[in-house]
Amino acid sequence: AYSSVGLHLDPESITGVLLDLAGGVRLRSRRRVPQDASPATVAAALTRTLKQLVRRSGIDESRVLGVGLAVPGPLDADHRRVLGPPNLPGWDDVALADLVEQRAGMPVVMDNDATAAAIGERWAAGKARRGSFVYVYLGAGVGVGVVLGDQVHRGTSNNAGEIGHVNGGGAGRPCSCGKRGCLEAYCSMRAIVDEWLSATGSPEGDSVSADYEEICRAAAGGDATAVRLLRQAATKLGQALATVVSVLDVDHVVLGGPALRHVEELVRSRVEKTLAAHVWAPAVRPVRVRTALIGEDAGAVGAASLVLDHAYSPR
Ligand code: BGC
Ligand code: ZN
Repeated sequence: AYSSVGLHLDPESITGVLLDLAGGVRLRSRRRVPQDASPATVAAALTRTLKQLVRRSGIDESRVLGVGLAVPGPLDADHRRVLGPPNLPGWDDVALADLVEQRAGMPVVMDNDATAAAIGERWAAGKARRGSFVYVYLGAGVGVGVVLGDQVHRGTSNNAGEIGHVNGGGAGRPCSCGKRGCLEAYCSMRAIVDEWLSATGSPEGDSVSADYEEICRAAAGGDATAVRLLRQAATKLGQALATVVSVLDVDHVVLGGPALRHVEELVRSRVEKTLAAHVWAPAVRPVRVRTALIGEDAGAVGAASLVLDHAYSPR
C-alpha cells in the first residue's frame, strides 16, 4: 500500500504521522528539538523522524509518495523557503523543503503550520468542518489557517492568516518579530512565561515550553495567578479574532495546538466570551468557538494530506 508522511515543526518539537491512502493515521511519533537548533540540525531531525516512521511501518520507501512539512511562516510564495519566523531566530532565508528533500531522497511539499492544521482538522473532522472556519493554531507562536467556502485560502503570497503579528493597537510590548504591539507579544507561550516569571519570581526552567506547561498545570489546579495570565492572553486573542470573524464572516472558530494542553476549556470559554462582546454584528454573526477535534496531530496530518493532494493533482 502507498502512504505519505507529515512532519510538523513547532520550534521545540517535531510531530510526525504516517498516513495510509485513505487518510488514516497509521503511525505517529514526537521528538524534542533543542531550543535555537540550526536549520541543518532541524532538517536532520525531521529526516530522522521520517525515516523512523517509514521503518516502523514496514512499508518500502518507494511506496511513500512524499513528505509534507508544516512549519511556522512566513514562507516564500513557492512554499520552499522559510523566511524568518519569529520563533525560529536566525532562520532568515532557509530552503527547508530542499534541505529535507535532499536528505530524505523523497519529494517534499511545505505549508504554513496553521494552514496545515486547518487542513488536517478538516480532513479528519469531515462534516463538522464544512463551509467556512478559521483554525487558530496556538503553539510557540499564534497563526491562523483560513478555510472559506470549503476552500483553503492562502492568499497572494501564501501567507494569509498571520494574526500573530497583527498590531493590537499602539506601540505596545516588543515582539520577537522585531515590531511592537503584536498579538504574540501578549499571548505567545514566551509572553505568558515572561509574565509568570516576573509575577511569581520563579526561576526560568529548561525551556519556554516546559515553563509554559508548568503554568498550564498550575492553572488547571486552580492557581489564581496562572488562571489570570491565561485569561488575559485569551482575551487579547479573542479581541483579535473578533476582527477576523467580523471581516470574514466565518461559521466558527477552531482552537488547536500545544499551548492549549490542560487549559482548553479555560481558553475556549474566554475567547468565546470576548468574541461575543466584540464581533460585529452579534445578532447575525456566529460566535461559536470549538476546540480542535484531532488535537496536536492536525499540522502533521494536514501536511501529509497535502502530499496526497499533490499526487492526485500535480501542479
Ligand atoms: C508565525 C506564523 C505561525 C505561528 C504559529 C507565528 O509567529 O508568524 O506563521 O503560523 O507563529 O507557529
Ligand atoms: Zn510580531
